[in-house]
Amino acid sequence: SDHALDYPSSLEAIDWSEHYPAFAASGKTPEFADIGCGFGGLLIALAPLFPDTLMLGMEIRVQVTQYVQDRIAALRTTSVAPAPSSMSLSTTTTPYQNVSVIRANAMKFLPNFFPKHSLSALFFLFPDPHFKARKHKARIISPTLLAEYSYVLRPGGIIYTITDVRDLHEWMNAHLDAFPLFESVSETELREEGFGPVLDAVYHSTEEGKKVERNGGKKWLACFRRKEASRMV
Ligand code: SAM
Repeated sequence: SDHALDYPSSLEAIDWSEHYPAFAASGKTPEFADIGCGFGGLLIALAPLFPDTLMLGMEIRVQVTQYVQDRIAALRTTSVAPAPSSMSLSTTTTPYQNVSVIRANAMKFLPNFFPKHSLSALFFLFPDPHFKARKHKARIISPTLLAEYSYVLRPGGIIYTITDVRDLHEWMNAHLDAFPLFESVSETELREEGFGPVLDAVYHSTEEGKKVERNGGKKWLACFRRKEASRMV
């Protein structure tokens, strides 16, 4: 239950400099959101690949969120930054400054966390399947929530979904496909566009993904691009 959860009353209510002190002066807000981030494997894998991109995990379980917070804090203090290169445009001095986590029910008030069109990537990796039909309304991909996702995602932004549950894959794929602001984008296309490292992290970096691998399970990927708003009018 999330009865005790606070929600930001508005976008201004969140102080991102507490999450990303090294970026306090930049005015940046998160660009990648990992919904139901679990133990944080995706964020930890992606953070060094995009050192100037702010990333946020959202996780509803208190202890799991705390674990990710501690994990990031430890990485920030113990990691050694790569030797500075004269070619590097990176503004950060130590790694993992660009990654953080927040305890939240991502199904509620997402637009109070992220400004309109601020995200370039939204991740739904191995979401809870809610197998029973009467529980399907609890699924994280639904027509109402898709309207919110299309609001926070910028045109051209990507939604990544992956699951080992075939029924859930078909559900997410069907709902995303039916939503007018998203268009399906193939793994091949994304790899050609240079998103290979992101896809590799989506497949292999999360704790749930590793568990599926250990158990010899199959993984279904489905990715969608946020269309240009102008194409809607
Ligand atoms: N993405 C991670 C991974 O691949 O390892 C975790 C997958 S786990 C099966 C699903 C996670 O989503 C759990 O940690 C759960 O607590 C979280 N979750 C479920 N519903 C949520 C919600 N409404 N808001 C935020 N997190 C949620």
